[in-house]
Amino acid sequence: MPNKELLLIPGPTPVVDEIYAALGSETYGHTDPRVVQCTLECLALTRQMFNTDGEIFLVAGSGTLAMEMALVNTVAPGERILVLSQGFFGDRFIKLAASFGIEVDVIASEWGRRVARADVEAKLKTTRYKAVTITHVDTSTGVEADLATLVPLCKKYGALVILDGVCATAALPEDMGYDYGDGARLDVVLTGSQKAIGIPPGLAIVAFSQEALAARSALGKVSAYYADIFNWLPIMKDPSKYFATPAVNMLYAYRRALEIIHAEGLTARYARHRRLGIAVRKALSALNLQPLADEAVAAPTLSCLLYPQNVDDVTFRKSLAAKGLVVAGSLASLAGKAFRLGHMGNIETSELRRAIGLIGKALVKQGQVLDIEAALAIFDDYTIFCQE
Ligand SMILES: *Cc1c(COP(=O)(O)O)cnc(C)c1O
Repeated sequence: MPNKELLLIPGPTPVVDEIYAALGSETYGHTDPRVVQCTLECLALTRQMFNTDGEIFLVAGSGTLAMEMALVNTVAPGERILVLSQGFFGDRFIKLAASFGIEVDVIASEWGRRVARADVEAKLKTTRYKAVTITHVDTSTGVEADLATLVPLCKKYGALVILDGVCATAALPEDMGYDYGDGARLDVVLTGSQKAIGIPPGLAIVAFSQEALAARSALGKVSAYYADIFNWLPIMKDPSKYFATPAVNMLYAYRRALEIIHAEGLTARYARHRRLGIAVRKALSALNLQPLADEAVAAPTLSCLLYPQNVDDVTFRKSLAAKGLVVAGSLASLAGKAFRLGHMGNIETSELRRAIGLIGKALVKQGQVLDIEAALAIFDDYTIFCQE
């Protein structure tokens, strides 16, 4: 593939050649036994990744469709949810809920911080919520949610836990079989294809636990057709049936991605992301780029980095793009003041090292006085155990 831009935005992420090869394979009919087999393998490997005895849904669409599927299949209009928001994508659940007449309370952290446990408990104590939404990694801030604290707390008060894993799945553990304490488990995990999974955008992936499936059953009819998991359930059980045409080539790509993920091993892959995240932030801090999130809450998948004084955002990102490195600007009140660097998926340590060097040079071009070699040496120290 000629595309070897270093696409280090928080998704889509770089796609490796073998996934492009799978994506470009011949398109067979959607009920062809080879596509049926591919779908079954995708479902089994996804089930393994989430460690669930519930149901997996693979549907053509972006991460936002997966968010919608999670919500509309668990919560009825007029019922109330609690949104725990650590940024832009947490807030998206507020708009989604409003679209379906679902009542919402929100606890929003300051950008770069986590929501406080005491605030969450205070809400849960006084109000009955059908579900709580948690954004595993909010892509606007690079903050990772504290599942160990939040999941048992929400379950203690009888709420379903919906986890938005769009910027986390395949880079951070999302183990639906894991007991967070007193039997507290994740109920719905939703994600998209184009972030840490490492395939192009276009596939919505949603996992429902048995408890979440029971919640869907109790709703009866829902205000959705394409997003109604009960229209998809027969297809996921027998992919030779038809409801709506699946994204056949995306399934080829997804199967290859899952094979890559499981060949690396989930534990090793999670550890690699954790180490790379730390290494990137340590090296960039040495280039006077301060991470927005404290290291204790910083995500393994992407970082939001504050510019030093006298660095112009647009000039900086343009000069990087001219060298083949694409990073993302920041959102809302951080626009112009910070940029976002993705470090997730099927990327090589050497590619991130190259990115750090290019970032250093772009800053020097804007008059910053920096020791790029020293920053690279820090990166090397922190990644010594993750060289391929
Ligand atoms: C990217 C992202 C989304 C939205 O996904 P789309 O594929 O753009 O619809 C939702 N949640 C999080 C956490 C994300 O990072």
